Amino acid sequence: MEYKYNLGIVGAGPAGYTAALHAAKKGLSVVMFEKDCIGGICLNRGCIPTKSILHCAEFYKELKCAQSLGIVIPDFTYDFAKVVERKNQIVQKLRKSLELAVKNSKITMIKAKADVINTNTISTTDDCYRCDKIIIASGSQSVALPGIEFDHKRILNSDDVLDLQYLPESIAIIGSGAIGIEWARIFSAFDVDVTVIEMAENLLPVADIEVSKRIERIFKANGIKFYKSTKVEDIQCNEKCLLRYSSGNVTEVDKVLVAIGRKPVPYRKIDGVTYLGDICGEIQLAHYAIKQAIAEIDGIHFDKSLVPSVVYGNPEIAWIGKREQDLEKGSYKKSMLLISALGKSQCDNAVDGFIKILSQDGIIVGAHIVSKEASSLIQQVSIAMQNNVTVEKLKEVCFAHPTYSEGIFESLFNLE
Ligand SMILES: Cc1cc2nc3c(=O)[nH]c(=O)nc-3n(C[C@H](O)[C@H](O)[C@H](O)COP(=O)(O)OP(=O)(O)OC[C@H]3O[C@@H](n4cnc5c(N)ncnc54)[C@H](O)[C@@H]3O)c2cc1C
Repeated sequence: MEYKYNLGIVGAGPAGYTAALHAAKKGLSVVMFEKDCIGGICLNRGCIPTKSILHCAEFYKELKCAQSLGIVIPDFTYDFAKVVERKNQIVQKLRKSLELAVKNSKITMIKAKADVINTNTISTTDDCYRCDKIIIASGSQSVALPGIEFDHKRILNSDDVLDLQYLPESIAIIGSGAIGIEWARIFSAFDVDVTVIEMAENLLPVADIEVSKRIERIFKANGIKFYKSTKVEDIQCNEKCLLRYSSGNVTEVDKVLVAIGRKPVPYRKIDGVTYLGDICGEIQLAHYAIKQAIAEIDGIHFDKSLVPSVVYGNPEIAWIGKREQDLEKGSYKKSMLLISALGKSQCDNAVDGFIKILSQDGIIVGAHIVSKEASSLIQQVSIAMQNNVTVEKLKEVCFAHPTYSEGIFESLFNLE
């Protein structure tokens, strides 16, 4: 059969479903293809499931400090299979509401692998779809270490690790990007012996140098071992996995999580077709994919240099704009406020972290936050930066007390 639509979309992740929903709102007829589950990596194997497990891990970790808060819990433990079950229920619930939103928007959802034949044609095994416009939003996949394949039992990628039914006693995590850091925090909170191996000079190498240094401090305080400037050369798995490093050192662990990055799924570049989200191989974040889709359909443009990054866990890590190491010495002002100075942080027993603001010519050019609620705090700075609000104008804003936001307010007065 041959069908006709205004818009055909391959992939129903954040880029695909956002484009579909916004196009349908404009009255376009839309067909969207998904070979796996609606919601893409973000909902099914990325942002949502990891944050769901992370929440349980951090809650368990907080319980360990209950006594210091005057709460007495004589005996407690965790049931990891239930943690995973809860994660699955959250994903299912969100998937259902997304399915409903797509259905209510009269978007035709085809559960099949789709091939884009040319600028206006998409085909599945059974049918052919003629579309005025086509978007490919087919996402990305985990990268394996050169010469070391995932066996999905001991050498795991970020998909495999989501469905562990019990926790290993020890794990090596290769790569300290957001995925590596978040899983190190999850495993460590559940008392797994964690070793992180990073090839670059610092952990979370994409971050501001002081953020990286603070993560190292936090890892040390939590007993998370890490090696920097170290490459994994070989992994031999029998009863246990033996990792050999470029430094000559070795580590023996039960499991290995390889989190060294993601690459676009294989695709053929077709002129006249639009590519959105992770497939572009640019910024691989769900909110970037969403903004790209809205820019494409509604023409609401955004500044790609102002995409916030967040690494979850306790404390959260978030940043936007320029890093200090990228600025010329003497060309900027800086403020560094310790979170422990804030009344709210003392009340919450969440004193670890800082708010670092960088400004040039009276305008904020970068913010780097390690703090509880950093994921929300960064948005305040992002709105100011997006609108070129000057530091002097921001000082006029009234910030509520006691909050973490006050830290941003106070930082404005300490820029030097
Ligand atoms: C462990 C992990 C944690 C993450 N955490 C965060 C986070 O906290 N915050 C954040 O912003 N980002 C996070 N990300 C990244 C985020 O998930 C991605 O940036 C986002 O999902 C990209 O959206 P997308 O629509 O481009 O692609 P995807 O979400 O990958 O969706 C692409 C979809 O296309 C489908 N598809 C592919 N080929 C075809 C075909 N031929 N026919 C039909 N369907 C097809 C796939 O099955 C998939 O469902 C995380 C990623 C991972 C792996």
